[in-house]
Amino acid sequence: VVELKNVHKRFGDQHVLKGISLAVNRGEILAIIGQSGSGKSTALRCMDHLETVDDGEITVCGHKLDRKPVNLRSLRQNVGIVFQSYNLFPHLTVLQNITLALIHVKKLSRRKAIEAADRALVQVGLAEKRQAYPEQLSGGQQQRVAIARSLAMDPQLMLFDEVTSALDPQLTGEVLKVIEALAVKGMTMVLVTHEMAFAYRLASRIVFMHQGQVWEEGTGEILKNPATRELQEFVG
Ligand code: ATP
Ligand code: MG
Repeated sequence: VVELKNVHKRFGDQHVLKGISLAVNRGEILAIIGQSGSGKSTALRCMDHLETVDDGEITVCGHKLDRKPVNLRSLRQNVGIVFQSYNLFPHLTVLQNITLALIHVKKLSRRKAIEAADRALVQVGLAEKRQAYPEQLSGGQQQRVAIARSLAMDPQLMLFDEVTSALDPQLTGEVLKVIEALAVKGMTMVLVTHEMAFAYRLASRIVFMHQGQVWEEGTGEILKNPATRELQEFVG
């Protein structure tokens, strides 16, 4: 579903990704861990073409993402991305937040869009909040709405960038439960996370990034037996 081959990304004279290669197959869950500034978010954003790579090649759900133009509408229907900040529209209800892209990007009828939105809200356990406004919800609930908004598009791949790091432990648990339920259903996912126990339990593979490179990669075992001093210090 996802393949990165020798991907380089620079911001000005800062070389942020220095030849990243990785692959995620259908049904796999890849966790990306690493220190602040190691390039995790940049790598994830490249997978949704929110950043353009300078060198190397990315294939995502059959789309080739290099420096040439990409069919963004089709890419965005295949790939859902959720960030630390939920980015809900404050003046729209939960239901309206979810149906917006379904109607305008996916071109569903209003009725079909509402059906898809309601199904997604059931998946994240918020069916009863469909008419609420974001400010009436807790942070964890808002994040679950953001996840529902992506799920309603029926993506082949979900990307999560530290979706729980703004939440307190209890709300974090609610959101992780939703992600875990997606895992059980076989959703292909890439998770940038600081939740080591969660990554260990859920991930098919873990990538440890350090200074813009894939420093170590393997199953959860790499957390227990790091091969490098850098990962050892990171898991501390
Ligand atoms: P964190 O754990 O803090 O989220 P990260 O591993 O996600 O860190 P990135 O956000 O990918 O790190 O950033 C990697 C480096 O690239 C940082 O030094 C950052 O300052 C720089 N960077 C990221 N985005 C931009 C941008 N749009 N313009 C300039 N520099 C950027
Ligand atoms: Mg980041």
